[in-house]
Amino acid sequence: MRSKFFIMHAPLIIAIAVVSLHLIGFIAEKYFLQTTSVWIWLLVAFVDLIFGFKSGRLIQQLYKGRFKDSLTGLNNREFFYLFLRDALIKTRAGTKYTALIMIDIDDFKQVNDRYGHIAGDQVLKMVAEVFRKHIRTNDVAVRWGGEEFAIVLPGTPAEGAHLLAERLRKQVEKQEFVYKGRRLQVTISLGVVAVDEYIAVEELVELADKALYKAKSKKNIVSGCC
Ligand code: GH3
Ligand code: MG
Ligand code: MG
Repeated sequence: MRSKFFIMHAPLIIAIAVVSLHLIGFIAEKYFLQTTSVWIWLLVAFVDLIFGFKSGRLIQQLYKGRFKDSLTGLNNREFFYLFLRDALIKTRAGTKYTALIMIDIDDFKQVNDRYGHIAGDQVLKMVAEVFRKHIRTNDVAVRWGGEEFAIVLPGTPAEGAHLLAERLRKQVEKQEFVYKGRRLQVTISLGVVAVDEYIAVEELVELADKALYKAKSKKNIVSGCC
């Protein structure tokens, strides 16, 4: 709560603190004995240090949070664009692929309608956890938004991406979510695409969307593109 107040009024608080502290130092030097003024200056420096440190920590936290989805803890769409663009630049014809899997939870609205939105949120967290557990360290899973996710697999051809997608589909299918003693299960549909040449991020997303659209026609399946 106090941090929230600090964030909301940070520029003003820091400006007032800097001016007041310098003023205190100036008064100490002008009107107090030298030994006393040294102690006052030290106190001023200490307060300044606390302010500086606290501001630095907040900047760090806000910067880290900028790329995170607050519900699932996965990366967010902003990070996705940066990461995918970087991966696509590194693709090389016939040798280095970049794969993208787009994922949509099937009939998720029914989960909310039957069990409530809190249960829905828990399901989103648990599905995200399945992704986190099964991808490699240099793959990146993001929450695209709502009940949709994406996984970027740098250096992975289509076959590898299909294998992972199928593994994820099976894992989610067999996962039992328990919410307030009630068991529920969900399935996911996945669209997979891989390229070995540079294309724009938006183009790759469009291809993966097409694959996902195909998968959604049956649900609970993995589909390739076009
Ligand atoms: P389909 O199989 O065709 O994908 O159907 P669906 O019900 O999964 O898709 P639809 O687009 O109809 O509904 C998505 C639902 O996801 C509706 C929305 O309320 C819910 N949703 C989106 N974001 C959140 C969230 O953060 N938490 C919860 N609990 N629900 C969310
Ligand atoms: Mg959807
Ligand atoms: Mg859905």
